[in-house]
Amino acid sequence: MARTMNRVGIDERALETLAAGYRGEIVRLDDPSYEEHRQVWNGSIDRHPAVIARCAGVADVIAAVRFGRETGLRTAVRGGGHSFPGQSVCDDGLVIDLSLMRGIRVDPARRTVRVQAGVLLGELDRETQQFGMAVPAGIVTHTGVAGLTLGGGIGWLQRKLGLTIDQLLSVDVVTADGEFVSASAEENADLFWGLRGGGGNFGIATDFEFRLNPVGPTILGGPIGWPMEKSGDVLRFYRDWIKDAPDELMTLVVHRTAPPVPFIPSELHGTKVVMVAACWAGDLDAGEKFLKPLREYSSPAFDACGPKPFVALQGMFDPSFPHGRWYYFRAANLTELSDGVVDTIAEHAAKMKSPLTAFPLWQMGGAIARVGEDDTAYTGRAVEWNININAATEGPEGFEVERDWVRSFWSALEPWHTSVYVNFLMDEGEDRIRQAYGAAKYDRLKALKKKYDPDNFFRLNQNIPPG
Ligand SMILES: Cc1cc2nc3c(=O)[nH]c(=O)nc-3n(C[C@H](O)[C@H](O)[C@H](O)COP(=O)(O)OP(=O)(O)OC[C@H]3O[C@@H](n4cnc5c(N)ncnc54)[C@H](O)[C@@H]3O)c2cc1C
Repeated sequence: MARTMNRVGIDERALETLAAGYRGEIVRLDDPSYEEHRQVWNGSIDRHPAVIARCAGVADVIAAVRFGRETGLRTAVRGGGHSFPGQSVCDDGLVIDLSLMRGIRVDPARRTVRVQAGVLLGELDRETQQFGMAVPAGIVTHTGVAGLTLGGGIGWLQRKLGLTIDQLLSVDVVTADGEFVSASAEENADLFWGLRGGGGNFGIATDFEFRLNPVGPTILGGPIGWPMEKSGDVLRFYRDWIKDAPDELMTLVVHRTAPPVPFIPSELHGTKVVMVAACWAGDLDAGEKFLKPLREYSSPAFDACGPKPFVALQGMFDPSFPHGRWYYFRAANLTELSDGVVDTIAEHAAKMKSPLTAFPLWQMGGAIARVGEDDTAYTGRAVEWNININAATEGPEGFEVERDWVRSFWSALEPWHTSVYVNFLMDEGEDRIRQAYGAAKYDRLKALKKKYDPDNFFRLNQNIPPG
């Protein structure tokens, strides 16, 4: 029988095979929901896939992978859609969208949780905090568990409980052959190693199992802020104060324009501020004692750090990073907060133009550094600081100016760069990906890729070509 193609060149018979028995939803260009489902978090990404296969379960994922193989369509995989460079959507290809797969099951007796690949961080917290427990993950609740976990996963609990992958027990995966495999320390251990930091290179993760740890539900957290002209002094004080921090404490230093929120005095709204945002996940009195010198330093302009539900802290940055704005980011791991680094940060922070731009400096270390560098694909266990220079504008207006600001700021910090966290990369090319893993680990990952995806079917990611 002659095969017919639709207007973007899709094999109609293959589409019919995909649709047969499909439980989810297959969205095409002329479907009313197409516009909604092609959008990703970063509004500067504007791509038009030919087909979006919204999977309802593992059988749909297998069917979608086989469809992608058979048709030869470029294939993107979407979890939460938060890839900074928009790697979970492509032009004229197939998007395997996992966002319908939102199941979460806490097992309180075993202290584990099973999480499907479309779950967002806030949904996971909602279920686990019901039992007073948590999985360490990221700082914005609408980020996807899947992409975040596969790259490592850093966040408020990282110094106490490690990376998200440090609590990962097993992953179910659909490989490039459309086969279903499970990976854990006992089963397909090589794959399990690669999935913990190697991103989406080895297959589609459909289900994650995590260990749970008691957290909160009340923690001590929130921001303490000063006018941005004090940035250099605050960073110098902070750098000395933080040296003795126990693992219960994790901090971010954020430079930004003060939003019109009630805890910031109205005269500061719209002005530039520097703030130290803290999460103390331990004994609250001990936390108050440790934080006291910071809150007494140089008369902060605002102090919203206090006891609050862990989920409230988790949602604190949500309004600052909504879907649809135009974002451009560059990141680097830094060796130290030397005077050179502090001065460079203070100088460039003052030059940000967009009132929507906000960039965090992450305090790393603690439990992350107690896992061996070669135990997982994630690289940079000994890193002390990570800077994520984020630019944001409402749309195209002013975007280029802000992007140039990011680039020049990032370049000025180059003397202190060590490596980079793979989940904070844009489309920066193979050398940067090799830098993220280091040469030896990169070669090991290439060999693993050759075993699990020799044709590089999963390549719309921070790609590790088979080798
Ligand atoms: C607002 C914001 C806040 C962030 N905060 C943090 C943070 O606190 N900590 C942190 O560590 N990172 C953070 N990140 C970075 C984040 O971890 C990455 O962007 C991550 O890739 C997002 O995952 P996702 O599933 O939402 O994204 P997607 O865009 O859906 O996917 C990202 C990549 O992972 C692949 N992928 C997604 N799901 C699967 C799957 N099931 N199987 C195989 N491959 C898959 C995709 O193909 C793509 O290459 C943040 C990002 C944003 C935009």
